[in-house]
Amino acid sequence: MLDDLVAGLTVPTDLFIGGRWRDAEDGGRFDVIDPATTRTIAQVANGTVADARACVDAAEKAATGWAATPPRQRGEILRRAFELMIEREDVLAELMVRENGKARRDALGEIRYAAEFFRWFAEEAVRLTGEVRTAPSGANQIMVIRQPIGIALLITPWNFPAAMATRKIGPALAAGCTVILKPASETPLSALAVAAILAEAGVPDGVVNVLPSRRSGAVAETVLTDPRVRKLSFTGSTEVGRGLLKLAADRVISCSMELGGNAPLVVLDDADLDVAVEGALLAKMRNGGEACTAANRMYVQRPVAEEFTRRLAEQMGALTVGPGLEDVAVGPLVNQSSLDKVAELVEDAVAQGAHVATGGSRPDREGYFYAPTVLSGVAPDSRILSEEIFGPVAPVVVFDTDEEAVELANRTEYGLVSYVFTRDLARGLRMSEALESGMVGLNRGVVSDPAAPFGGVKQSGLGREGGHEGMLEYTESKYVAVQW
Ligand code: NAP
Repeated sequence: MLDDLVAGLTVPTDLFIGGRWRDAEDGGRFDVIDPATTRTIAQVANGTVADARACVDAAEKAATGWAATPPRQRGEILRRAFELMIEREDVLAELMVRENGKARRDALGEIRYAAEFFRWFAEEAVRLTGEVRTAPSGANQIMVIRQPIGIALLITPWNFPAAMATRKIGPALAAGCTVILKPASETPLSALAVAAILAEAGVPDGVVNVLPSRRSGAVAETVLTDPRVRKLSFTGSTEVGRGLLKLAADRVISCSMELGGNAPLVVLDDADLDVAVEGALLAKMRNGGEACTAANRMYVQRPVAEEFTRRLAEQMGALTVGPGLEDVAVGPLVNQSSLDKVAELVEDAVAQGAHVATGGSRPDREGYFYAPTVLSGVAPDSRILSEEIFGPVAPVVVFDTDEEAVELANRTEYGLVSYVFTRDLARGLRMSEALESGMVGLNRGVVSDPAAPFGGVKQSGLGREGGHEGMLEYTESKYVAVQW
């Protein structure tokens, strides 16, 4: 535990297994770095394969009791966890800024969003419905009940260190499952703080186990090859997701995968440009551009392209950049390799003829900072249009017809979210239907909502999180043929 990292918060740095905070079996620890200063802020226990087995043992020991706990009681514990998170939102946000770098306002937004998953699933816990139908023959009834799927392995990324954890833990616990959470190594502290809150809220020992580890491949394999584990819920890159799907296939484990994105943002010629620029700014710059939902490619219809680009560049250029704990709009990127990748993508686009409307460079200061950037005239085969940027850069491409916009937008292996701006609702809805993505923001730059089914198509993933659908992912349906 650390007492001086964030005033007013005791920050756990150990593994959390079976309700106990403990060292890794070999005593190993790894560093957590503050991206604004590149200095080490904490050393966290580095879970081993033996610790992974201990997590499954603990989750199994707690499984029967938790599945039998009345849904109302499970819901009340989640509700209490929501309240505790909101009571402590300022210190939790500060902790997140320290390990992730994001601006405090983004961190505070994430803590509230993360807590909402506990509130939403506290309410969903008591609304798990089955079904009774009459067989077409009339001879019997078809009864369908929903049961907890069993022990779940949850793996989360560094860009939303709290919300990606609560978006999985909330529905799993509501459904009656026990879990093992493997948070990203860049940002394990927020997940450990959430685990401490869950314990305080009354989650019984072993229901939630947290296993920070730099040996992510080995610990994930240990858990996934254990016959007691029935579910994998992963949020992260498509590349790692593919590998985990192959591993899960050996034991036919149910998988929910929230993978990479390459979101198009389409501005039609009849759009309200105030709304479109504000939406584009949000869709691009929430979390400093480090979001799977970030607008990666801006397609703007020719008559409004110049005006849209000018206004967007003006607003992006005015964003204040600096350490997330200061009064800034944009913090640093998470690490050196993210910074290098963003710089490389911009260099490649510029080498192919793109014009830098604002930004395009790294500020001269310590930390992993990159200036908010708008590029216009981006060549169609620039890497920046096909790879996830994960940084504060907006490439703008001009198009002429709606058909061309749809074709350009769908020209990607990803399909998480798309954004469309138009005053003509019918035109916007037609385009929403034609876009190959699991979600569409129509005249909105943010789609994330705990009450909505979040997820992608194509190589952006499988399954949905949030909404009613989110809890179903942690259940099995059982059909009973009944005659009476
Ligand atoms: P990542 O490299 O795929 O890592 C995600 C998680 O997987 C981390 O906990 C990581 O642990 C773990 N991991 C890495 N290699 C593994 C392996 N071989 N076996 C098991 N686990 C492994 O992704 P990231 O860089 O943290 O996150 C960015 C990506 O997440 C982006 O592509 C983004 O689009 C995606 N994302 C998607 C959503 C969505 O809902 N669709 C939401 C947020 C982010 P370590 O940190 O210890 O390596």
